[in-house]
Amino acid sequence: MTESADVVVVGGGILGCSVALHVARALPKARILVLDRGPIAGATSGRCMGHLMVTPDTKEEYAFSQTSVRMWAGLQEEIGGFDYNPTGALYLADAPEDLELLPVLQKQFSDCGDTAAILDQKQLREIEPGLAHDLPGALFYQGDGVVLPMTACSAMLRLGQRHNARLETRPGTEVTGFDGIGSRMTAVRTKHGTITTGNVVIACGVWSPAVAKLAGIAALPIVPRAGNLAITAHHSTPIQTQLLEVSYIRFAHGAAKVDPWKTDEDQGGHAVNMQPQSAGGCLIGSTRQFRGFDTTLNRELLHRSLLRAQRYAPGLLGLPIVRTWVGLRPYSVDKHPFVGPWPQTDGLWICSGHEGLGISLSMISGQLIAAQMTGTPCAVDPTSWLPRRIL
Ligand SMILES: Cc1cc2nc3c(=O)[nH]c(=O)nc-3n(C[C@H](O)[C@H](O)[C@H](O)COP(=O)(O)OP(=O)(O)OC[C@H]3O[C@@H](n4cnc5c(N)ncnc54)[C@H](O)[C@@H]3O)c2cc1C
Repeated sequence: MTESADVVVVGGGILGCSVALHVARALPKARILVLDRGPIAGATSGRCMGHLMVTPDTKEEYAFSQTSVRMWAGLQEEIGGFDYNPTGALYLADAPEDLELLPVLQKQFSDCGDTAAILDQKQLREIEPGLAHDLPGALFYQGDGVVLPMTACSAMLRLGQRHNARLETRPGTEVTGFDGIGSRMTAVRTKHGTITTGNVVIACGVWSPAVAKLAGIAALPIVPRAGNLAITAHHSTPIQTQLLEVSYIRFAHGAAKVDPWKTDEDQGGHAVNMQPQSAGGCLIGSTRQFRGFDTTLNRELLHRSLLRAQRYAPGLLGLPIVRTWVGLRPYSVDKHPFVGPWPQTDGLWICSGHEGLGISLSMISGQLIAAQMTGTPCAVDPTSWLPRRIL
């Protein structure tokens, strides 16, 4: 069977769904297909946390993340249904060296023209009474929030279909190859037939290098970075705010200090991250390890996270853990996601490599793809995220 589409999005995770939404908005009459070999949101986007995080590491990253997190508030107004909760975030300190990081992070926010407040012990307990009483302080940033990523994927698709009734999703459709004429993309091959198209967006998370290879991109530098998670029973969370150790910034957002291709390397890094869920569970993460596509739970690392979490929120002690699992972050080796056209093939686009910020950055990433595809203004400067940098 051969059919045709104007745009084919490969991958139905949060990035593919956001691309579909934004392209549907920009091209309300185009035929858009979202193909996934599994279910929608069945891979990393269904095995992660939902912290919407503004990162002030550089002005550029701040603009990218802050614009995206703002767009999430807009998505909530337009459609909702994905447990959006603008909790803000508390960056917690415990050790003296962590306390020193609070003004550093506060300055990063102020250098970007934003504000974050350093809280003393008393102010901290007023915001989060469930925290240990001897914690020395924290930084509170109001702009962050929390969502439930699986339902966010479906909200994006529902809204996309409101803008464009010809947007269609095809779970259970594995892409097996691509056809081209010269340097132009002409078709997507799937297990169920060929779809002729002039535009293909690869949004396959940790599988993007494999799918990109089918399209002639020899080595897209994205590597799986595993994270262990645990969630407590419903109606049990002792916290109401997105919480993370301030050392998380150093650990999670810096470039990895180990070789990400050496999958036997067990550096076992972690900084704890705790997230209240709308059903009352407390989601606890989140470790980082390079070990290929292995999704076996690392009980020892997870145990360390749980102990850290209890240190901050003693009310967690003794709560039933109802589920544990591992998700694979798509880590881009230069730390920046790939969002834009592949310059050597007309009609080939990449939207992948967002590591631990894919939920946060999905809205802006979808907008950048749609804007570049239709020649309309991008919400932020796309230059740093363009895939051409690896050529
Ligand atoms: C433990 C953990 C905690 C996290 N916490 C946060 C957080 O708090 N905030 C945040 O912003 N981000 C967080 N992240 C990061 C975020 O989850 C990811 O960046 C994001 O989900 C990646 O989405 P994706 O769409 O790129 O990939 P995926 O969700 O993996 O989607 C890719 C899809 O491509 C499909 N696919 C692959 N190959 C093919 C093929 N040949 N044909 C068709 N389909 C194919 C797959 O089936 C899959 O559904 C976390 C991640 C982890 C692991």
